[in-house]
Amino acid sequence: MKSVVLPGGRQVPALGLGTWKMGEDGGRRAAEIAALQRGIDLGMTLIDTAEMYGEGGAEVVVGEAIQGRRDRVFIVSKVYPHNATRRGTIAACERSLKRLGIETIDLYLLHWRGSVPLAETLDAFVELERTGKIGSFGVSNFDTSDMQEAWDLPGGQEIATNQILYNLTRRSVEHDLLPWCRNHRVPVMAYSPMEQGRLVRDQKLLNRDATPAQIALAWLLTMEGIIAIPKSSGVRHVEENRVAADLVLTIAELSLIDRAFPRSKARKPLEML
Ligand code: NAP
Repeated sequence: MKSVVLPGGRQVPALGLGTWKMGEDGGRRAAEIAALQRGIDLGMTLIDTAEMYGEGGAEVVVGEAIQGRRDRVFIVSKVYPHNATRRGTIAACERSLKRLGIETIDLYLLHWRGSVPLAETLDAFVELERTGKIGSFGVSNFDTSDMQEAWDLPGGQEIATNQILYNLTRRSVEHDLLPWCRNHRVPVMAYSPMEQGRLVRDQKLLNRDATPAQIALAWLLTMEGIIAIPKSSGVRHVEENRVAADLVLTIAELSLIDRAFPRSKARKPLEML
């Protein structure tokens, strides 16, 4: 499995598992746990969750799925912006730890930027790291100017990732946000890598011996420093997505894809889902 080394030295797989919409319906719980466990067993050992998903329900599902597998997984969770004050961040992290049933969240992110001053959230992150409740921290949905602003604050240069909307139909980030992250050695986590499932039905991706989902993921994984976190609550889809990490796209295929999904000419503000 291709991997990415995070600032701080932890090596994580470039293909992980998302959990948005999990933990919302008790009837789907067994299938969600089975999907996550299959993914872990196939090497997709980075799991992305958040206190927002299922209002804590997704973290509970993740907690169950990783029982007996904790040592193999790298857990990413996120604090709501409205909880991201100094005290609020620490309290939210403690609630997440309890739901996940673990001692340390490996990477803890600010879900998106809200009205709490960034310096306060970073201060809380540094404190959580010092006390061992998180292993590292980062941000999500930060555009280039947000990244620069955070970088210039105390603790800002410890930011270990920016998790952003990035897929074949959302390439505006290639104008300056991806170069900024590359220049500052901040790995990017691409969320909604299949555009929430819309790309898996895209006729333009039906031109070779792989499924559209696999091509959309493989395209992201051709880039250095990019981690893709597709979500699937079914074992079959997880198995299909895992193949993407071993798929090598040729230069000819990459240029066909590039023509079918061109980058916007003008830079747009960072989009969010
Ligand atoms: P996504 O991963 O692009 O797409 C998920 C959808 O694709 C689901 O409906 C899933 O259905 C379907 N799917 C997955 N594999 C498939 C396959 N092989 N064939 C056909 N359909 C397939 O969208 P996402 O869930 O929005 O993004 C992924 C993760 O990123 C989230 O779960 C979350 O962890 C994170 N995220 C973060 C933010 C943020 O603000 N930081 C925002 C959005 C997402 P099944 O479940 O039925 O397989």
